[in-house]
Amino acid sequence: GIHAELKGVMRVYSGTDHQVHALGPVDLALEQGEFFSVVGPSGCGKSTLLEVLCGLAEPTAGSVSFEGKAVQGEVPDGIGVVFQEDASFPWLTVWDNVAFGLRRAGLPAGEVRQRVDYALAFMGLADFSKAYPAQLSGGMRQRVCIARTLVMKPRLILLDEPFGALDQQTRLLMGDELLRLWRETGATVLLITHALDEATMLSDRIGVMSARPGRVIEIVETRWPRNRD
Ligand code: ADP
Ligand code: ADP
Repeated sequence: GIHAELKGVMRVYSGTDHQVHALGPVDLALEQGEFFSVVGPSGCGKSTLLEVLCGLAEPTAGSVSFEGKAVQGEVPDGIGVVFQEDASFPWLTVWDNVAFGLRRAGLPAGEVRQRVDYALAFMGLADFSKAYPAQLSGGMRQRVCIARTLVMKPRLILLDEPFGALDQQTRLLMGDELLRLWRETGATVLLITHALDEATMLSDRIGVMSARPGRVIEIVETRWPRNRD
């Protein structure tokens, strides 16, 4: 079934002297459990599409839904977002970074401990739990960001160029990690990337966007629909 959907979505930024037509109209339906990538040149509206999909930006026209409910004004429970830039708190240890969202949600300490330890082990971070983000490599810091999302048990994971700042070798490794995450969590994944090879390697379907006027011009199915089990 359909997990999340954009219908006739447009996003226009109004400046003082002119408007920027950033996105749309876009119709896009993400299937439950699929791995969907979005590719396209810089400035074609990929980030805008992600922001609108999770409620961080409001569509100028059209509607967005997640699990049958309208997305409006805030990121719904069940959606996790990972950005390119390191979003971890530099003054907190890796462990406390991963625990942050759970504590804010008011989960009991025992549950927090169990889930943080699980997420750190899953992302290969168990030995770094007491380290601070600045002491880690860029790849490890991105793992922390993914662990922070994973720990909330998201059913839809959105990633905006999560490996864009990493070297090629690390990117390949993180691609494998992402596949493992997708398989084990059963989540639907939407990955934004400018790397077509990455999209081809990882996804069930690829949405190709074009810069003018910020639309999904084609949806390509990879030859290997991935079976989780
Ligand atoms: P991509 O992620 O594919 O690089 P974006 O979604 O970031 O593309 O941007 C799409 C278009 O919207 C670009 O032309 C960009 O310059 C414009 N844009 C993005 N954010 C803003 C903003 N806050 N104000 C004005 N224009 C913006
Ligand atoms: P069960 O379904 O029997 O609870 P799981 O393998 O789903 O077994 O979970 C085992 C442990 O891992 C539990 O403590 C659970 O809270 C934790 N766990 C499972 N998934 C996640 C996740 N995405 N993030 C954090 N902790 C998790």
